[in-house]
Amino acid sequence: MDAKLTPMLKQYLEIKKKHPGEILFFRMGDFYEMFFDDAHTASKALSIALTSRQNDVPMCGVPHHAAESYIARLIKAGHRVAICEQMEAVPSSGTVVRREVTRVITPGTLVEQNLLQSDHNNYLASVVEGPDRIAFAFVDVSTGDFHLSSMAHSADKYRGELARFSPREAIHHSMNGADDTVLGYLKSRGIPVNRINEWLYDVEYLTSAIAEAFRLAGIKGLGMEDPLEILAAGSILEYLKDTHKKAFGHLKPPRRIVASDYMALDEATIANLELVHNSNDGGRERTLYSVLNRTKTAMGRRLLERNLLQPLIRADEIEKRLDTVRLFHESASLTADLQDRLDGVYDIERLIARFVIGRCTPRDYLALAASIEAALETARLLEGIPHELGARIIAAANECKPLAKLIGEVIDDDPALSPEQGRVVRPGRSAELDRLYDLKKDSKNWMVEYQEEEKRRLEIPTLKVKYNRVLGYYIEVSKGQSSKVPADYFRKQTLVGAERYTTGRLQSFESDILGASQKIAAMETAELESLHGEVLAQRPGIQELAEALGEIDFHCSLAVAALENRFVRPSFNDRGVMNVSGGRHPIVEKYYTREVFIPNDVRMDDSGDFIKIITGPNMSGKSTYIRMAAIIQLMAQAGSYVPAASAELPIADRIFTRIGASDNISRGESTFLVEMNETALILNNATHKSLIVMDEVGRGTSTFDGLSIAWAVVEYILRYIRAKTLFATHYHELTRLGGRRGIVNYTVLVKEHMGGVDFLHRVVPGAADRSYGIHVARLAGIPREITARAQKILERMEKTNRAGNAPESAGEDDAGEQLEIFNAANHRLVQAIRALDIDTLTPLDAMNELNRLKKLVE
Ligand code: ADP
Ligand code: MG
Repeated sequence: MDAKLTPMLKQYLEIKKKHPGEILFFRMGDFYEMFFDDAHTASKALSIALTSRQNDVPMCGVPHHAAESYIARLIKAGHRVAICEQMEAVPSSGTVVRREVTRVITPGTLVEQNLLQSDHNNYLASVVEGPDRIAFAFVDVSTGDFHLSSMAHSADKYRGELARFSPREAIHHSMNGADDTVLGYLKSRGIPVNRINEWLYDVEYLTSAIAEAFRLAGIKGLGMEDPLEILAAGSILEYLKDTHKKAFGHLKPPRRIVASDYMALDEATIANLELVHNSNDGGRERTLYSVLNRTKTAMGRRLLERNLLQPLIRADEIEKRLDTVRLFHESASLTADLQDRLDGVYDIERLIARFVIGRCTPRDYLALAASIEAALETARLLEGIPHELGARIIAAANECKPLAKLIGEVIDDDPALSPEQGRVVRPGRSAELDRLYDLKKDSKNWMVEYQEEEKRRLEIPTLKVKYNRVLGYYIEVSKGQSSKVPADYFRKQTLVGAERYTTGRLQSFESDILGASQKIAAMETAELESLHGEVLAQRPGIQELAEALGEIDFHCSLAVAALENRFVRPSFNDRGVMNVSGGRHPIVEKYYTREVFIPNDVRMDDSGDFIKIITGPNMSGKSTYIRMAAIIQLMAQAGSYVPAASAELPIADRIFTRIGASDNISRGESTFLVEMNETALILNNATHKSLIVMDEVGRGTSTFDGLSIAWAVVEYILRYIRAKTLFATHYHELTRLGGRRGIVNYTVLVKEHMGGVDFLHRVVPGAADRSYGIHVARLAGIPREITARAQKILERMEKTNRAGNAPESAGEDDAGEQLEIFNAANHRLVQAIRALDIDTLTPLDAMNELNRLKKLVE
């Protein structure tokens, strides 16, 4: 069929050859058309009609002005879209206009506002797996954010990193000798993975690619020396070259995430503490983020999310944030005024990306100008306030001020979407432009006057002067009157009942008008282009302004949330003391309690008790209590005030949580395996500076299995890690560990009465009475016979357990003793040794016996 193809389809196929993996949007006039397989795919995904052209070529199309919403649906459905534009108005050679792919749209490279959520970054990741380390680069093209990090090749670390950035798309590469574990993981999380050419992964080449992208002579100034990181950063730029065709000049230089600056959070902890997604439906409501989010700008929202997922670990930086929050906390009326102004700030970070990529409308200029104006007012409010952030805003806003003024002078208050569609430039900007517009406006009057004049002259009362797009301007006279038409009328068209004419005067009027329209479009386009240049020249200043506004907004938000929710400023110590009085769980308090939330204290101390075993009946508040401790610690290190009457805290190097695995069941992993994976992660990574929160460890298996594991875990933490640990458990037996130095028992109070039990939610020293479960059963209406019988069974089991089957406390904590859970094995060993008669043993017997004994303890 090739021979029969039109030149246009030939051009199509040539371009399509380079984009086999994308749906090609082929611009034809006012439409984007799709052909062949793309047409089939798109018509199904978009439910639009499939038609066929000559040669039975299947095709479908979408109007160019509505393309964004169609693209959105294709991207959501997992497709990639290549946009192919007409690069000229008329063919410069041959019979078809030149066309080029100007952009490839993929989930990780979006800049379209309606494809993005304002409170979320939209990251593309580049992952490079080395033999023992992994490097990540993350870029949000829509904001210009660029982050870089590298780490040891451990599941805990890379999963945590991916959970924090939650990339929408990734590119992946494994170095020689490295495996593909991260690749497998990305796929299992449903993140689309792409590749770029293998041979591009060359340190020297990518080094120069990075330097070129940031217009630098070398990359020394970026602090990048690690070859793995260079590969990650460079490869992401290469990928962007393919998708954005070099239009990514707004990327900020990569920010290296230095492990010693931030607390690493693992995937489970981010999920368990419901920092940014709730565990019900994954939404952002009822999360720590939603408690703290009183931001007014998109920059503030994204910064809040980032900061919650990246708590600090350096005391000076935490205090600096807290100082800023205090400033706004103490002056509520200033903060209210600031927030008022911030409300007028648009998503400038994403605006600037659209300017760079060239997808900006005249309205975007107005949004930018309005934001700069709002920033100037914000700056004015901060004048005289001795704070570095104030100075930053003032400097940045003043730098952008002339641009805002210029935009105000150029762009009309209510501009059309483009110069082709109507007026864009403000009256008064250019005398020539205003004259042309007047000419256009006068044309209507002129037509009316001319019509009246001709009616009178020719005595044809039905004569009309009209315009249509095909014919242009013409005079219409009905058939019956056409004999009255004079010789200076030239016939243009004959209809059934009328004749259409033109005249010399009408023709010169027409050329004036058409000329004016063309001139207007050209002049307005030129004005826009020069304004565009101005915006691009100011890009770094605008980006700095956006960042500073985000910072202000973030801190104001924390201050307002603190005021609304009665949070206090935490203080920090390096003595390992955690002393929280009247602590509350911010999410449960705000969203889940019908009456008041009962505050509780948390006291732990490196040199005293640092492990708390919390027992208590179901629904008493164990889980809430231990999560509260973790959340307060995390909030404090994110620079926020905390829900407590007072809080004195150590700085935790990490916060670990092991909490219910129910939500993982849907992923098909066994609950118990997940639980043990998470527990192993904690035991292998926690230090004495960590905070560990464990909820019902061991629940996923049989009672004795679970109990022994829980017991051994607590012992291990006590002996080898010495991390502050809150351990909620329904294994009552664990309270026997409570006597050891470093471990203390807590229980949640319940009040018994005739009807059953009331939950007081108060956490106090001591161990729970083990029979509350039966009380609760009674409360729930289980028949009395059953609860009475259960009580008996419980008592009997308790007796047998005490007799030796159950875990015994290994007595007071004593040095050198091995971890022991059950004594039975020891007994067997001791008995065997006792039975040995050294006198009668030959050396060979002794060897055999030793071998047997060894087997006993293996
Ligand atoms: P447990 O882990 O002991 O089964 P939870 O911590 O899940 O108990 O708490 C059960 C419910 O009790 C929570 O959903 C919450 O509504 C309520 N609750 C817990 N702690 C408190 C508290 N301190 N004040 C008020 N209500 C609380
Ligand atoms: Mg619980």
